[in-house]
Amino acid sequence: MDRYLHPRLDIRWFAPYHPDSISRLRFRCHEGVEADEKRNQSVSGVTHVIKRVIGTVVVEDGIAPVRVEPDGRICHPIGRPVIQGASNVFGTQMPAQAVVQEKSVRLAPPEATVPNRIRWEYALPIVGLHLIALLAFVPWFFSWTGLIVMIVGIHVFGQAINLCYHRILTHRALKVPRWLEHGFVVMALCCMEDTPAKWVAMHRIHHKHSDHEDDPHSPLVAFLWGHLGWLVVKNRETHSLASYRKFAPDILKDPFYMKLEKSYAWVWIYIIHAVLFFAVGFGLGLAIDGTTAAGWQFGASLLVWGVFVRTIAVWHITWSVNSLTHLFGYQNYETSDHSRNNWFVAILTVGEGWHNNHHHDQASASNQHKWWELDITYYQIRILEWLGLATDVRRPRHQRHAARAVVATDQSVPADSGD
Ligand SMILES: [Zn+2]
Ligand SMILES: [Zn+2]
Repeated sequence: MDRYLHPRLDIRWFAPYHPDSISRLRFRCHEGVEADEKRNQSVSGVTHVIKRVIGTVVVEDGIAPVRVEPDGRICHPIGRPVIQGASNVFGTQMPAQAVVQEKSVRLAPPEATVPNRIRWEYALPIVGLHLIALLAFVPWFFSWTGLIVMIVGIHVFGQAINLCYHRILTHRALKVPRWLEHGFVVMALCCMEDTPAKWVAMHRIHHKHSDHEDDPHSPLVAFLWGHLGWLVVKNRETHSLASYRKFAPDILKDPFYMKLEKSYAWVWIYIIHAVLFFAVGFGLGLAIDGTTAAGWQFGASLLVWGVFVRTIAVWHITWSVNSLTHLFGYQNYETSDHSRNNWFVAILTVGEGWHNNHHHDQASASNQHKWWELDITYYQIRILEWLGLATDVRRPRHQRHAARAVVATDQSVPADSGD
């Protein structure tokens, strides 16, 4: 190992791996690393020479980041050997054990994060609602109806996130009438998961930089970071109106969604829906039992279970797509990120857990690529389509290609040659 431990690393190492992308090398220095850039037209266009390596260096080769560790080892997030038989600047051969396996892959948080700047507008509701939801452990707040309303609510309100925020708004995998889209968005706001422009922008940034350093919520930084930490720490680049304008301009064009950005209507929508749950419970309790006490108890059970516990559950289910499915599971495709198909998350999210399939084919309305990778969200989209409420439903890539091939074949047949 010692023979390649030296304070200089030359990125020309990467040329044998992907010669075409050498001119697109992007190179970032972390704390404690000094580097300079040298133009070298004869070799690669740009050659970066790291003068002194103390921390971890991430080099992006146009496909995926590769990392040069302080001791000179080089690894790839998918665990693929990056340098095989290449030699470093001193001409020594890279040993096979230079490749670090995926378990040890770690990313630094995005450079734009400000570690000491807590976003209290996120931290307080997240902590506060978790504390309030603890009331579920007090027997007085329990009712079987409340429990069932919670379970059904996870699906119904969760679909506003999966189907609307993710597949309709972020990826435009289908279209629904404006009134239905807005209805879904109101339900999504009852999950307290950001306004549509913020959610969409963040998810598009995630796809653009998946598991690279600018990914706002890669769990390769840390599990808790990917799960919820990224929400409560300031990120100068992603948490700004400029980034919402850049990554979600289509969303902001809708006056309703723009109004949500400029007002606290989303807070009121959440509060009003919570009050409605309580009021309906109170009315039913009063009507069935005839006492005010029964009304209070039943209303409170619907509020705690049907609203607060359900909100927390939907949060963690959504967050698990960001955390678990970028860490655990299998891959059908070698994407440029760490996305995985995770059956547990797929069950919880009725289809979003087939995340490697999704990263491979983001435009598709369906995440089902094998017969047993059930995507209930997609079945619901097909029901909407059958009802005439969904149009332009984007089929999986293999079906799109097959359809295109049929069209091309049809067009290649002369009109007068048919029989
Ligand atoms: Zn992802
Ligand atoms: Zn997506």
